[in-house]
Amino acid sequence: MPTDTISAIKLSLAWVPLATPISDAKVFTGRQKPLTRVAMLFAEIETADGHTGLGFSYSKRAGGPGMYAHAREVADSLIGENPADIGRLWNKLVWAGASVGRSGLSTQAIAAIDIALWDLKAKRAGLPLGRLLGAWRDGVPSYNTSGGFLSSPLPEVLDNVEASIASGIGGIKIKVGHPDPKVDLTRLEAVANQIDGRVALMVDANQQWDRPTALRMCRAMEQYGLVWIEEPLDAYDIEGHAALAAAIDTPIASGEMLVSAAEHFAMIDARAVDFIQPDAARVGGITQFQRVTARAEQAGLMMAPHFAMEIHVHVSAAYPLGTWVEHFDWLDPLFNERQILEGGKMMLSTRPGLGVTLSDQARAWTEASCRIDAKGCTDHTHG
Ligand SMILES: [Mg+2]
Repeated sequence: MPTDTISAIKLSLAWVPLATPISDAKVFTGRQKPLTRVAMLFAEIETADGHTGLGFSYSKRAGGPGMYAHAREVADSLIGENPADIGRLWNKLVWAGASVGRSGLSTQAIAAIDIALWDLKAKRAGLPLGRLLGAWRDGVPSYNTSGGFLSSPLPEVLDNVEASIASGIGGIKIKVGHPDPKVDLTRLEAVANQIDGRVALMVDANQQWDRPTALRMCRAMEQYGLVWIEEPLDAYDIEGHAALAAAIDTPIASGEMLVSAAEHFAMIDARAVDFIQPDAARVGGITQFQRVTARAEQAGLMMAPHFAMEIHVHVSAAYPLGTWVEHFDWLDPLFNERQILEGGKMMLSTRPGLGVTLSDQARAWTEASCRIDAKGCTDHTHG
Protein backbone atom coordinates (compact mmCIF):
# COMPACT_ATOMS: atom_id res chain seq x y z
CA MET A 1 0.00 0.00 0.00
CA PRO A 2 1.49 3.37 -0.96
CA THR A 3 2.16 5.72 1.93
CA ASP A 4 -0.19 8.63 2.43
CA THR A 5 1.37 12.02 3.11
CA ILE A 6 0.29 15.27 4.76
CA SER A 7 -0.44 17.72 1.96
CA ALA A 8 -1.79 20.75 3.83
CA ILE A 9 -2.47 22.10 7.31
CA LYS A 10 -5.01 24.85 7.86
CA LEU A 11 -4.76 26.76 11.14
CA SER A 12 -7.33 29.18 12.48
CA LEU A 13 -7.82 31.38 15.51
CA ALA A 14 -11.40 31.93 16.66
CA TRP A 15 -13.04 33.44 19.75
CA VAL A 16 -16.04 31.91 21.52
CA PRO A 17 -18.01 34.54 23.45
CA LEU A 18 -19.61 33.48 26.74
CA ALA A 19 -23.22 34.42 27.46
CA THR A 20 -22.31 36.04 30.80
CA PRO A 21 -18.90 36.89 32.33
CA ILE A 22 -17.68 33.96 34.46
CA SER A 23 -15.86 34.17 37.80
CA ASP A 24 -14.21 31.50 39.89
CA ALA A 25 -12.13 31.99 43.05
CA LYS A 26 -9.23 33.47 41.07
CA VAL A 27 -11.44 36.43 40.19
CA PHE A 28 -12.80 36.83 43.74
CA THR A 29 -9.24 36.99 45.11
CA GLY A 30 -8.29 39.58 42.48
CA ARG A 31 -5.89 37.49 40.42
CA GLN A 32 -7.91 37.45 37.23
CA LYS A 33 -10.70 39.37 35.55
CA PRO A 34 -14.03 37.65 34.78
CA LEU A 35 -13.83 35.40 31.73
CA THR A 36 -15.81 36.71 28.76
CA ARG A 37 -14.52 34.56 25.87
CA VAL A 38 -12.32 31.57 25.02
CA ALA A 39 -9.62 31.63 22.33
CA MET A 40 -9.62 28.57 20.05
CA LEU A 41 -6.79 27.29 17.86
CA PHE A 42 -8.07 24.86 15.21
CA ALA A 43 -5.83 22.63 13.08
CA GLU A 44 -7.27 20.96 9.99
CA ILE A 45 -4.99 18.46 8.26
CA GLU A 46 -5.39 17.18 4.70
CA THR A 47 -3.56 14.24 3.14
CA ALA A 48 -2.67 13.41 -0.45
CA ASP A 49 -5.22 10.56 -0.36
CA GLY A 50 -8.00 12.93 0.69
CA HIS A 51 -8.19 12.13 4.41
CA THR A 52 -8.79 14.91 6.93
CA GLY A 53 -8.24 15.49 10.62
CA LEU A 54 -9.53 18.19 12.98
CA GLY A 55 -7.91 19.14 16.27
CA PHE A 56 -8.11 22.07 18.63
CA SER A 57 -6.44 23.75 21.51
CA TYR A 58 -7.66 26.73 23.51
CA SER A 59 -6.76 29.46 25.93
CA LYS A 60 -8.80 31.20 28.57
CA ARG A 61 -7.66 34.84 28.74
CA ALA A 62 -4.24 35.60 27.19
CA GLY A 63 -2.31 33.25 24.92
CA GLY A 64 -4.57 32.34 22.01
CA PRO A 65 -2.94 34.57 19.37
CA GLY A 66 0.50 33.42 20.59
CA MET A 67 -0.46 29.77 20.16
CA TYR A 68 -1.73 30.49 16.66
CA ALA A 69 1.49 32.32 15.74
CA HIS A 70 3.65 29.48 17.08
CA ALA A 71 1.68 26.76 15.27
CA ARG A 72 1.89 28.80 12.06
CA GLU A 73 5.70 28.86 12.37
CA VAL A 74 6.26 25.14 12.99
CA ALA A 75 3.47 23.40 11.03
CA ASP A 76 5.34 23.37 7.70
CA SER A 77 7.74 20.76 9.08
CA LEU A 78 4.93 18.17 8.67
CA ILE A 79 4.26 18.70 4.96
CA GLY A 80 5.10 15.48 3.08
CA GLU A 81 5.24 13.40 6.29
CA ASN A 82 3.32 10.18 6.95
CA PRO A 83 0.35 11.21 9.15
CA ALA A 84 0.33 7.83 10.91
CA ASP A 85 3.68 8.41 12.67
CA ILE A 86 2.27 10.69 15.33
CA GLY A 87 4.87 10.30 18.08
CA ARG A 88 7.72 11.09 15.72
CA LEU A 89 5.81 14.03 14.25
CA TRP A 90 5.15 15.44 17.74
CA ASN A 91 8.89 15.35 18.37
CA LYS A 92 9.57 17.05 15.06
CA LEU A 93 7.14 19.85 15.93
CA VAL A 94 8.49 20.34 19.43
CA TRP A 95 12.10 20.52 18.24
CA ALA A 96 11.14 23.06 15.56
CA GLY A 97 10.20 25.39 18.44
CA ALA A 98 12.36 24.03 21.25
CA SER A 99 14.03 27.38 21.85
CA VAL A 100 10.81 28.55 23.52
CA GLY A 101 10.41 25.36 25.50
CA ARG A 102 8.89 21.91 25.62
CA SER A 103 5.94 22.91 27.79
CA GLY A 104 3.37 25.65 27.99
CA LEU A 105 2.32 27.78 25.04
CA SER A 106 4.62 26.08 22.52
CA THR A 107 3.24 22.61 23.21
CA GLN A 108 -0.33 23.89 23.50
CA ALA A 109 0.12 25.15 19.93
CA ILE A 110 1.35 21.70 18.89
CA ALA A 111 -1.58 20.06 20.72
CA ALA A 112 -4.09 21.19 18.09
CA ILE A 113 -2.01 19.53 15.35
CA ASP A 114 -1.39 16.37 17.39
CA ILE A 115 -5.11 16.00 18.13
CA ALA A 116 -5.90 16.50 14.42
CA LEU A 117 -3.46 13.67 13.57
CA TRP A 118 -5.24 11.37 16.06
CA ASP A 119 -8.64 12.38 14.64
CA LEU A 120 -7.35 11.58 11.16
CA LYS A 121 -5.92 8.21 12.21
CA ALA A 122 -9.17 7.18 13.91
CA LYS A 123 -11.28 8.32 10.95
CA ARG A 124 -9.08 6.30 8.61
CA ALA A 125 -9.59 3.25 10.82
CA GLY A 126 -13.35 3.94 10.80
CA LEU A 127 -13.34 4.09 14.61
CA PRO A 128 -14.29 6.65 17.25
CA LEU A 129 -11.02 7.84 18.78
CA GLY A 130 -11.85 6.19 22.12
CA ARG A 131 -12.16 2.83 20.32
CA LEU A 132 -8.90 3.35 18.44
CA LEU A 133 -7.16 3.95 21.78
CA GLY A 134 -8.97 0.94 23.26
CA ALA A 135 -12.15 1.67 25.22
CA TRP A 136 -12.94 0.23 28.65
CA ARG A 137 -16.51 1.59 28.66
CA ASP A 138 -19.20 2.89 26.31
CA GLY A 139 -20.00 5.90 28.48
CA VAL A 140 -18.03 7.94 31.01
CA PRO A 141 -19.56 9.31 34.23
CA SER A 142 -20.03 13.00 33.57
CA TYR A 143 -20.44 16.01 35.82
CA ASN A 144 -21.52 19.59 35.25
CA THR A 145 -19.29 22.56 36.15
CA SER A 146 -20.80 25.47 34.27
CA GLY A 147 -23.83 25.80 36.58
CA GLY A 148 -21.85 26.32 39.79
CA PHE A 149 -19.55 29.30 39.26
CA LEU A 150 -19.08 31.82 42.09
CA SER A 151 -20.48 34.49 39.77
CA SER A 152 -23.88 32.74 39.87
CA PRO A 153 -26.15 33.63 42.83
CA LEU A 154 -27.22 30.62 44.91
CA PRO A 155 -30.84 30.45 43.61
CA GLU A 156 -29.46 30.30 40.06
CA VAL A 157 -27.00 27.54 41.06
CA LEU A 158 -29.88 25.54 42.56
CA ASP A 159 -31.91 25.98 39.35
CA ASN A 160 -28.86 24.84 37.37
CA VAL A 161 -28.63 21.71 39.56
CA GLU A 162 -32.16 20.73 38.56
CA ALA A 163 -31.57 21.50 34.89
CA SER A 164 -28.35 19.44 34.90
CA ILE A 165 -29.99 16.47 36.60
CA ALA A 166 -32.87 16.63 34.11
CA SER A 167 -30.33 16.59 31.26
CA GLY A 168 -28.96 13.22 32.44
CA ILE A 169 -25.81 14.39 34.25
CA GLY A 170 -24.10 12.11 36.80
CA GLY A 171 -22.58 14.77 39.05
CA ILE A 172 -22.53 18.45 39.96
CA LYS A 173 -19.42 20.46 40.76
CA ILE A 174 -19.63 23.86 42.39
CA LYS A 175 -16.91 26.45 42.80
CA VAL A 176 -15.62 27.32 46.26
CA GLY A 177 -12.61 29.35 47.38
CA HIS A 178 -14.65 32.49 48.09
CA PRO A 179 -12.67 34.92 50.28
CA ASP A 180 -15.32 34.35 52.97
CA PRO A 181 -15.31 30.63 53.89
CA LYS A 182 -18.84 30.94 55.30
CA VAL A 183 -20.10 31.72 51.79
CA ASP A 184 -18.58 28.47 50.52
CA LEU A 185 -20.07 26.36 53.29
CA THR A 186 -23.53 27.95 52.98
CA ARG A 187 -23.63 27.36 49.23
CA LEU A 188 -22.31 23.80 49.57
CA GLU A 189 -24.88 22.94 52.25
CA ALA A 190 -27.70 24.29 50.04
CA VAL A 191 -26.49 22.42 46.94
CA ALA A 192 -26.00 19.17 48.87
CA ASN A 193 -29.55 19.46 50.22
CA GLN A 194 -30.90 20.23 46.75
CA ILE A 195 -29.13 17.21 45.22
CA ASP A 196 -30.20 15.00 48.14
CA GLY A 197 -28.04 12.09 47.00
CA ARG A 198 -29.48 11.91 43.48
CA VAL A 199 -26.11 12.53 41.78
CA ALA A 200 -22.46 12.92 42.81
CA LEU A 201 -21.10 16.19 44.21
CA MET A 202 -17.65 17.79 43.92
CA VAL A 203 -16.12 21.20 44.71
CA ASP A 204 -13.34 23.23 43.08
CA ALA A 205 -11.33 25.90 44.94
CA ASN A 206 -9.23 26.98 41.92
CA GLN A 207 -5.98 27.17 43.95
CA GLN A 208 -7.06 29.99 46.22
CA TRP A 209 -6.42 28.50 49.69
CA ASP A 210 -3.17 28.49 51.63
CA ARG A 211 -2.22 25.27 53.38
CA PRO A 212 -3.92 25.93 56.77
CA THR A 213 -7.11 27.20 55.12
CA ALA A 214 -7.20 24.21 52.78
CA LEU A 215 -6.87 21.78 55.68
CA ARG A 216 -9.57 23.54 57.68
CA MET A 217 -11.96 23.78 54.70
CA CYS A 218 -11.39 20.21 53.56
CA ARG A 219 -12.11 18.98 57.09
CA ALA A 220 -15.30 21.07 57.22
CA MET A 221 -16.42 19.53 53.93
CA GLU A 222 -15.68 15.87 54.78
CA GLN A 223 -19.30 15.41 55.97
CA TYR A 224 -20.67 15.87 52.43
CA GLY A 225 -19.14 12.71 50.96
CA LEU A 226 -17.69 14.67 48.04
CA VAL A 227 -16.27 12.68 45.14
CA TRP A 228 -13.32 15.06 45.23
CA ILE A 229 -12.06 18.47 46.34
CA GLU A 230 -10.35 20.12 43.39
CA GLU A 231 -7.36 22.46 43.41
CA PRO A 232 -7.36 23.20 47.13
CA LEU A 233 -3.82 24.63 46.81
CA ASP A 234 -1.54 26.27 44.29
CA ALA A 235 -1.20 23.97 41.28
CA TYR A 236 2.56 23.61 41.82
CA ASP A 237 2.45 22.93 45.58
CA ILE A 238 3.06 19.20 45.24
CA GLU A 239 4.21 18.74 48.83
CA GLY A 240 1.15 20.57 50.14
CA HIS A 241 -1.22 18.43 48.06
CA ALA A 242 0.46 15.24 49.26
CA ALA A 243 0.15 16.27 52.93
CA LEU A 244 -3.50 17.27 52.46
CA ALA A 245 -4.37 14.05 50.62
CA ALA A 246 -2.83 12.06 53.48
CA ALA A 247 -4.68 14.08 56.13
CA ILE A 248 -8.25 13.88 54.88
CA ASP A 249 -10.57 11.11 53.63
CA THR A 250 -12.14 13.03 50.71
CA PRO A 251 -10.13 12.46 47.51
CA ILE A 252 -8.01 15.41 46.32
CA ALA A 253 -7.95 16.36 42.62
CA SER A 254 -5.57 18.62 40.71
CA GLY A 255 -3.55 18.92 37.50
CA GLU A 256 -5.54 21.11 35.11
CA MET A 257 -2.96 23.92 35.23
CA LEU A 258 0.00 21.66 34.47
CA VAL A 259 1.35 22.21 30.98
CA SER A 260 3.52 19.20 30.21
CA ALA A 261 3.66 15.48 30.83
CA ALA A 262 6.79 16.07 32.95
CA GLU A 263 4.86 18.31 35.36
CA HIS A 264 2.23 15.59 35.72
CA PHE A 265 4.91 12.96 36.38
CA ALA A 266 6.12 15.03 39.35
CA MET A 267 2.57 15.24 40.76
CA ILE A 268 1.85 11.55 40.14
CA ASP A 269 5.17 10.28 41.47
CA ALA A 270 4.66 12.21 44.72
CA ARG A 271 1.19 10.60 45.09
CA ALA A 272 0.03 14.18 45.68
CA VAL A 273 -3.52 13.64 44.40
CA ASP A 274 -6.17 10.90 44.23
CA PHE A 275 -7.64 12.21 40.94
CA ILE A 276 -5.22 13.46 38.31
CA GLN A 277 -6.73 16.10 36.03
CA PRO A 278 -4.73 16.37 32.81
CA ASP A 279 -5.96 18.53 29.96
CA ALA A 280 -4.99 17.18 26.53
CA ALA A 281 -4.81 20.66 25.02
CA ARG A 282 -2.60 21.95 27.83
CA VAL A 283 -0.12 19.04 27.96
CA GLY A 284 0.55 19.02 24.21
CA GLY A 285 -2.14 16.75 22.75
CA ILE A 286 -3.21 13.13 22.94
CA THR A 287 0.30 11.75 22.46
CA GLN A 288 1.44 13.45 25.67
CA PHE A 289 -1.87 12.75 27.44
CA GLN A 290 -1.25 9.04 26.93
CA ARG A 291 2.13 9.34 28.64
CA VAL A 292 0.38 10.96 31.61
CA THR A 293 -2.36 8.32 31.81
CA ALA A 294 0.14 5.46 31.57
CA ARG A 295 1.99 6.87 34.60
CA ALA A 296 -1.27 7.63 36.46
CA GLU A 297 -2.57 4.12 35.90
CA GLN A 298 0.66 2.66 37.22
CA ALA A 299 0.25 4.82 40.33
CA GLY A 300 -3.35 3.64 40.76
CA LEU A 301 -4.86 7.11 40.41
CA MET A 302 -8.34 7.98 39.24
CA MET A 303 -8.68 10.58 36.50
CA ALA A 304 -10.93 13.55 35.75
CA PRO A 305 -9.60 15.49 32.74
CA HIS A 306 -10.16 19.23 32.60
CA PHE A 307 -12.56 20.96 30.12
CA ALA A 308 -12.73 20.06 26.36
CA MET A 309 -15.23 17.18 26.73
CA GLU A 310 -15.17 16.67 22.94
CA ILE A 311 -11.62 15.31 23.32
CA HIS A 312 -11.72 13.97 26.86
CA VAL A 313 -14.73 11.69 26.48
CA HIS A 314 -12.50 9.58 24.22
CA VAL A 315 -9.37 9.47 26.37
CA SER A 316 -11.49 8.89 29.49
CA ALA A 317 -13.27 5.96 27.88
CA ALA A 318 -9.80 4.52 27.22
CA TYR A 319 -8.54 4.90 30.82
CA PRO A 320 -8.60 1.58 32.72
CA LEU A 321 -9.30 3.02 36.20
CA GLY A 322 -12.07 5.25 37.54
CA THR A 323 -12.68 8.37 35.52
CA TRP A 324 -15.07 11.28 35.03
CA VAL A 325 -15.53 13.70 32.15
CA GLU A 326 -16.32 17.37 32.72
CA HIS A 327 -19.44 18.60 30.91
CA PHE A 328 -19.03 22.15 29.63
CA ASP A 329 -21.42 23.43 26.96
CA TRP A 330 -19.29 26.52 26.18
CA LEU A 331 -17.81 25.05 22.98
CA ASP A 332 -21.12 23.64 21.68
CA PRO A 333 -21.68 26.42 19.09
CA LEU A 334 -18.33 25.55 17.43
CA PHE A 335 -19.45 22.09 16.39
CA ASN A 336 -22.31 20.60 14.38
CA GLU A 337 -22.61 17.62 16.77
CA ARG A 338 -23.57 17.34 20.44
CA GLN A 339 -22.30 15.02 23.19
CA ILE A 340 -25.01 12.63 24.43
CA LEU A 341 -25.72 12.18 28.16
CA GLU A 342 -27.44 9.00 29.29
CA GLY A 343 -27.99 7.78 32.83
CA GLY A 344 -25.27 10.03 34.26
CA LYS A 345 -22.73 9.21 31.56
CA MET A 346 -21.40 10.92 28.46
CA MET A 347 -21.64 8.33 25.73
CA LEU A 348 -18.84 7.57 23.30
CA SER A 349 -20.28 8.46 19.90
CA THR A 350 -20.22 5.97 17.05
CA ARG A 351 -18.85 8.60 14.64
CA PRO A 352 -15.22 8.03 13.56
CA GLY A 353 -12.45 10.18 15.06
CA LEU A 354 -13.39 12.85 17.59
CA GLY A 355 -16.81 12.83 15.96
CA VAL A 356 -17.06 16.59 15.58
CA THR A 357 -17.05 18.95 12.59
CA LEU A 358 -16.67 22.74 12.62
CA SER A 359 -19.90 24.73 12.40
CA ASP A 360 -20.60 27.81 10.27
CA GLN A 361 -20.59 29.73 13.56
CA ALA A 362 -16.99 28.63 14.22
CA ARG A 363 -16.02 29.98 10.80
CA ALA A 364 -17.91 33.22 11.50
CA TRP A 365 -16.00 33.69 14.79
CA THR A 366 -12.63 33.14 13.05
CA GLU A 367 -10.29 36.10 13.34
CA ALA A 368 -7.28 34.77 11.40
CA SER A 369 -6.44 31.69 9.37
CA CYS A 370 -3.69 30.34 7.16
CA ARG A 371 -3.14 27.35 4.89
CA ILE A 372 0.29 25.74 4.81
CA ASP A 373 1.25 23.39 1.97
CA ALA A 374 4.29 22.53 -0.15
CA LYS A 375 4.17 25.97 -1.77
CA GLY A 376 4.31 27.83 1.56
CA CYS A 377 1.92 29.62 3.86
CA THR A 378 -1.09 31.59 2.63
CA ASP A 379 -2.76 33.92 5.13
CA HIS A 380 -6.45 34.70 4.91
CA THR A 381 -8.11 37.80 6.26
CA HIS A 382 -11.49 37.63 7.93
CA GLY A 383 -14.08 40.40 8.03
MG1 LIG B 1 -11.04 23.12 37.91
